[in-house]
Amino acid sequence: MKVGVLALQGDFDKHCRILNNLGIIPQNIRYPNQLEQVEGLIIPGGESTTMSDLINRAMFYEPIRNFSKSFPVLGTCAGLIMMAKKVLDEKINPLALLDITVERNAYGSQIHSFTHNLGIEIKGQKRSVPATFIRAPKIYAVHPAVEILSKYNQEYVAVRQGKHVGLAFHPELDNVSFFHELTFMGNNFKNNMRKKDRNVT
Ligand code: GLN
Repeated sequence: MKVGVLALQGDFDKHCRILNNLGIIPQNIRYPNQLEQVEGLIIPGGESTTMSDLINRAMFYEPIRNFSKSFPVLGTCAGLIMMAKKVLDEKINPLALLDITVERNAYGSQIHSFTHNLGIEIKGQKRSVPATFIRAPKIYAVHPAVEILSKYNQEYVAVRQGKHVGLAFHPELDNVSFFHELTFMGNNFKNNMRKKDRNVT
């Protein structure tokens, strides 16, 4: 399986390492037509104002939105902001892949960064993973179709809607592969594969 990492801006390299460890082939995505070669996409952390601008200039909006109808997308921090339906900042033109409203930088500035062990419960299975928050966004409103995977101090910090997962933190900085596995190797794995490859495994 090949998963793309949007490599316009931000910390895309660390995601590639996590994918490699899971036996998934990472591919940096710089042009919309490269989406045809992958079966999943990561939108990394970085600076969402710059990312929004570059997504617009590189004409990625419709290609990513079309891609997301068939394949899973994982967004971390600025990536989550880009995946939201609504962002409380007019500089951002989000992709609307997750039915949520977010506020940028809502946990404070860079010096307020922190790492916290988050509890996660999926299908009755509990686990705890370290999560690093850096100028992280807050998720304020979620549609009932959005599943809350984890909270920090009553705030939603990890959500899933259909095949897409959005995180306010950076699992790649703590070498946590759980969310990559969940997004790209979960129950829907076979359905996520491109048709031509489906009967290979
Ligand atoms: N605050 C940044 C933004 O709005 C996101 C920070 C991050 O990705 N760590 O884009």
